Amino acid sequence: MDHKIKTIGILTSGGDAPGMNAAVRAVTRTALFNGINVKGIYKGFNGLMSGNMKNLTLRDVSGILERGGTCLYSARCPEFNSDEGVEKGKLACQKAGIDALVVCGGDGSFRGARDLSLKGVPCIGIPCTIDNDIAATEYSIGYDTAINTVVKNIDKLRDTSQSHDRCSVVEVMGRNCGDIALRSAICDGAVSFLVPEIEYDLERDIINKMRTTLGTGKSHFIVIVAEGVTQADPKFEGDEPMDAARIAAYIQEKTGVEARATVIGHVQRGGSPSARDRVIASEMGHYAVELLMKGIGNRIVTRQGSTTTDVDILEGLKMEKTIDINLVRVANEISI
Ligand code: ADP
Repeated sequence: MDHKIKTIGILTSGGDAPGMNAAVRAVTRTALFNGINVKGIYKGFNGLMSGNMKNLTLRDVSGILERGGTCLYSARCPEFNSDEGVEKGKLACQKAGIDALVVCGGDGSFRGARDLSLKGVPCIGIPCTIDNDIAATEYSIGYDTAINTVVKNIDKLRDTSQSHDRCSVVEVMGRNCGDIALRSAICDGAVSFLVPEIEYDLERDIINKMRTTLGTGKSHFIVIVAEGVTQADPKFEGDEPMDAARIAAYIQEKTGVEARATVIGHVQRGGSPSARDRVIASEMGHYAVELLMKGIGNRIVTRQGSTTTDVDILEGLKMEKTIDINLVRVANEISI
């Protein structure tokens, strides 16, 4: 790889996450500080292929740090899943004079970055997803903001559940990862939480726990369900995916406690990024450019503990995400 990178392209792709803007700003400013041009590419890999991009100046990334979403817009680009699409992307980089690409996104976007890397365009992935489902990194930009949004919303539900002796069954995001559900269960004192990583039984994990706590005088409940919990419970006919409404109806039938379902939905993806997300995004963006300046490409920037580091993009994508079993135990043992 040519160590003298002259132009870096940056794009945001896949699901958006608060803090993407902070990463775009950090990449842009670090590159410009070091005399490297930056092309901001709009709408993910779509914009790369169609040449929808512009040179970014220092002031183009002013006023975005505190904003959620992404100023470069995001998109899903099915065409990039094919070899022809990736080849088109490579030719677009050559045409635009882009020597290396920074891709802010999740696993899917990193697969695109990996494929482009294999065609000779050095790529660096910056993990941005509220789901925190990228195995290679302990932390993904947007996760902290999303949990705080979830907690603020469940706090409000708890107020009304308490006033009416109700049970609130809350569905939170996370795709196939239960990290948001587990952390928000701890933050909101949920009596039970269901995550896709752990097999569950409604009777054992919700109904019996509620009956026990009813016996100790508790009369209002929060139950959290991760959106990735789609496995059908054998007690139900058919194999439709489980959802908050079905679980709420089941709880009401079995316990007599009035239960309401709430799906928090896309508000979890928005909002001004938390201080933690702004700091980590700034550090990761800076780190990504430093890697490229050292002649290193084809890496995912990662966070291990409080350290920012990196891993080979091919290796990183092969890793498997697991749930923190100790934290699961903590949540279960203090939810009584
Ligand atoms: P996320 O990055 O949030 O996980 P997606 O999984 O939707 O989001 O992926 C975003 C985009 O990344 C896709 O629309 C596509 O352009 C690209 N992408 C995903 N998977 C691949 C793949 N296997 N090969 C090439 N590009 C891919």
